[in-house]
Amino acid sequence: MVHLNPYLMSCVTLSIEKHNDHIFWFDLCPNDESAFISVYLIIDEKIAIIETGPACSHDSLVQGVQAAGLNLQDIDYVIPTHIHLDHFGGGGHFMAVCENAQAIVHPKAYKHVSNIENWWQGSCDFLGDIANLYGKPKPINQSRLISAEEGFELSLGNLNIKALHTPGHAPHHITWICNKDAFVGDSAGLWYPNLGKSFPVTPGYYRHDLALESIEKMSLLDLEYLHYTHFGPRYSKGVFEATKSEFKIWMTIVEEGYRANLSAKDILEKLFDNRSGLVESDRNHGVHQRSTHLGTVEGMMHWLRREDAQG
Ligand SMILES: [Zn+2]
Repeated sequence: MVHLNPYLMSCVTLSIEKHNDHIFWFDLCPNDESAFISVYLIIDEKIAIIETGPACSHDSLVQGVQAAGLNLQDIDYVIPTHIHLDHFGGGGHFMAVCENAQAIVHPKAYKHVSNIENWWQGSCDFLGDIANLYGKPKPINQSRLISAEEGFELSLGNLNIKALHTPGHAPHHITWICNKDAFVGDSAGLWYPNLGKSFPVTPGYYRHDLALESIEKMSLLDLEYLHYTHFGPRYSKGVFEATKSEFKIWMTIVEEGYRANLSAKDILEKLFDNRSGLVESDRNHGVHQRSTHLGTVEGMMHWLRREDAQG
């Protein structure tokens, strides 16, 4: 989960980026915020879309699909990495206009997307006003839902995509693998292409052990590109080692502060002093990044608290 900037920034005109002959993507610009959410299209005999973004950006999602030369009826599969509102809050809205599409979600997300009340309530509890900014999801009828167990595979024609369960950020997180391309959602953190940096993103019920295992699991695959939701493609060489190390460094700094009874804000200041690029990620990407990073510190503190409680 990443916090949306309530202060609007001007957005560049929507343009479709070509990654290769099959993979295209665009900047969704929710609430006119650029370089925040990327939406990916895989175009083969069948057409899949990875992530829909939040409900508030439904119109720009539709515009993006049309700008790619597609009709809404052409969409066969709507595939989120996980159902946090910034990734799939608009899933039901989009399914409502894509009459031929099926949505594919983790078994743990299945009941929430068909019956949204708990999902919405949980999002409001965690995000507060930002949940309203993202917008309320719409339910998806179970007849249009596919549950993706670990290893679930789907043929799009020449290409296959495969589900790799990557819990840690969320228990229902899936990384989608298509040949040497991986759609990593939030499982490898946030990627700031302009800074050449990536940092962890960990919400309240973060599982550090599982997050590291998931990164390890992805590192064993022969991948060429990681496609982040926040934000854009990244050449994969060396990324998993660097990501694991960054997650561990953050946890070490958070744990030191937590043991010294520092507040999450004070710990974040220590991270700002220690992690090069983090200050710039805040300065260059709007005020929301500070609350996102603060949420990550709190997520890590929750993990430590739960670990302590278990002895
Ligand atoms: Zn998330």
